[in-house]
Amino acid sequence: MNETHNHEHPTLDITERVEQARRIVEGANERFTPLRAHVLELIITDGKAVKAYDLLDRLRPDVGSPKPPTVYRALEFLSRHGLIHRVEALNAFIACDHNHLHDHNHDHGGGSHRHLAEFFICEKCHDVEERHANDHAACKPDGFAITRSVVEHYGTCNSCAA
Ligand SMILES: [Zn+2]
Ligand SMILES: [Zn+2]
Repeated sequence: MNETHNHEHPTLDITERVEQARRIVEGANERFTPLRAHVLELIITDGKAVKAYDLLDRLRPDVGSPKPPTVYRALEFLSRHGLIHRVEALNAFIACDHNHLHDHNHDHGGGSHRHLAEFFICEKCHDVEERHANDHAACKPDGFAITRSVVEHYGTCNSCAA
């Protein structure tokens, strides 16, 4: 039995992930501003769900010491492009864990890479794991058009249960 515990994602390094995000955003004919890039980089670097308030503290002065509404707009922008997800229960944001470059199943056109994510949230350490969620297409009420969904599971992660 493997007893090591880590959250390593052997996919892309941070710079590559930010560059990949740039291609997604520019592919949608929108601007990947230095602030947007920096906010995304901070969230990816953190590796956990980050509160907007904590991001504000960490923003470098070289992106112009942006005011909170500017940062909230950047978060909304990144989330609209599926690059980050909001974890409602924690009121925090987490970088999308999926490798978009090789995951075109979730490209719904228009450069949007949004997908329905579900989260497994440890109530002890606030570790958040992301998985693709069922789109519930089969059990939706007739004519119901989903605009957004929140699927969050609470419990104890493997390392806290030990
Ligand atoms: Zn995701
Ligand atoms: Zn835990």
